Amino acid sequence: MARPGLAAGAAGGENGRIMKPLNTLLANTGTTIFTVMSALANAHGAINLGQGFPDTDGPADVIEAAKAALGDGRHQYPPMTGVPELRQAVAAANRRFYGIEVDPDAEVVVTSGATEAITACLMALLDPGDEVVLIEPLYDTYLPVVRMLGAVPKLVRLEPPGWALPRDRLAAAFGPRTKAILLNTPMNPASKVFSADELALVADLLARHDAYAICDEVYEHLVFDGLRHIPLMSLPGMRPRAVRIGSAGKTFSFTGWKVGYITADRSLAPTIAKAHQLLTFTTPPNLQRAVAAGLGKDDSYFAGLVGGLQAKRDRLAAGLARVGFGVLPARGSYFITCDFAPLGFNGDDVAFCEHITREAKVCAIPVSAFYDGDAPRHWARFAFCKKDSVLDEAVARLDAHFAGRRGSLTQPAGQG
Ligand code: PMP
Ligand code: GLN
Repeated sequence: MARPGLAAGAAGGENGRIMKPLNTLLANTGTTIFTVMSALANAHGAINLGQGFPDTDGPADVIEAAKAALGDGRHQYPPMTGVPELRQAVAAANRRFYGIEVDPDAEVVVTSGATEAITACLMALLDPGDEVVLIEPLYDTYLPVVRMLGAVPKLVRLEPPGWALPRDRLAAAFGPRTKAILLNTPMNPASKVFSADELALVADLLARHDAYAICDEVYEHLVFDGLRHIPLMSLPGMRPRAVRIGSAGKTFSFTGWKVGYITADRSLAPTIAKAHQLLTFTTPPNLQRAVAAGLGKDDSYFAGLVGGLQAKRDRLAAGLARVGFGVLPARGSYFITCDFAPLGFNGDDVAFCEHITREAKVCAIPVSAFYDGDAPRHWARFAFCKKDSVLDEAVARLDAHFAGRRGSLTQPAGQG
């Protein structure tokens, strides 16, 4: 319960005495929108198309590998940078999917999810005062972590509906103090997959400004319409400058497992490993060995993952379009962004997402949550990584809800 008169960040002590304030940045950081909206969805019995997690299990053989790993007696601290099986599997996956040669002993760091990996990389690369180029819309951990490290964010904004990269503004964001860019492709929530051309521009800027790239590639295997995910690290000159981050949560549909992996040049990996040492030190060894088995799965698994999700994307996109949303193309990830302005709703995206969660019993995420400050306000993000029956029911609920509203909204003024 909030205590009356308690300033943000002030700790409440005995008898309500106000104590010294806590860390200002954390005290002023809200609870993540994904948790907030999931709680609202639960409270109202809504279908949760907000937080991005699949509602079916990942591959059974990977679960079996985890069970077997729990029975093999290796329960103590694993090596800090990851069990050898997973480091080798990450190196093999780099070669197999992208032709990147990686030394599993010197260039891989396993973390507790991509979330930790992102923070560890930022910790390893940044000193206070360093500038970091960030692209909006951005994942919710990026900005607070950059700020906690005392680094200076330089924001470059992409906007719906086109999500075009403003090349001049990107170039202008780089300067003599730029240490790094944090690049998310495929991008959440825009579902944009950066093109070879766009990546070449980023690579050119990094080379000219002697800067690094932290590449959040958690959706690397979720790319649709025959497009290809291109790691920035695979571009000429980028091998020592770009670090790439993957997530077993996304690649195997086990978001709760929290196993992430970083591939980084041997000149960077040891310092990144020291950040991991301070954050968590190690990651559960049994899950690491199961993920190693997963990365070794044959091509049909990866093709099946994409094919299945693409069909779900098409199903939800068609349904939302029937309801009357303006549906944007989604080239990768779990998410569709929609314009709800055509539905005539009177309010911003936060109000809209709360409204449909409460009244239509379908939850979505307001896109403004991915922007710092002023943001586009009539877009909502829906996750399609759900059973077909769940997607259909969500569309039916939205349709029923807005059919009623549309009726009243289209009533000519003065005649009702
Ligand atoms: N980056 C992006 C863009 C994401 O959408 C997510 C979603 N969970 C993460 C990082 C974090 O991944 P993990 O669950 O492996 O920590
Ligand atoms: N990445 C997931 C999403 O964008 C959520 C992860 C989280 O809840 N922190 O929906």
